[in-house]
Amino acid sequence: MPQSICAHCGTAITHPETMQESAGKTYCCRNCVAMATGGTKEGAGRPLCAHCETPIVDETTAVHRGSQSFCCANCADAVSAGATQPLA
Ligand SMILES: [Zn+2]
Ligand SMILES: [Zn+2]
Ligand SMILES: [Zn+2]
Repeated sequence: MPQSICAHCGTAITHPETMQESAGKTYCCRNCVAMATGGTKEGAGRPLCAHCETPIVDETTAVHRGSQSFCCANCADAVSAGATQPLA
């Protein structure tokens, strides 16, 4: 199956379980749908995804790793895939 990319943040969608579709576009999770569909007010004061900086308005798809929060597992994976390995 071809890899989808979020229409809002461009993150590769590797976890279809959080994927959302809206108006014919594909998003990594509901947080990006909310922002893409004009819910920016909702995002005020919310924690931002450490990968795509989308405000996390829907905690049900959020992933927390250490001190970092991600909007969904797609962003969490994108960061770990691109991260340089720590030396220690
Ligand atoms: Zn996204
Ligand atoms: Zn994200
Ligand atoms: Zn997401």
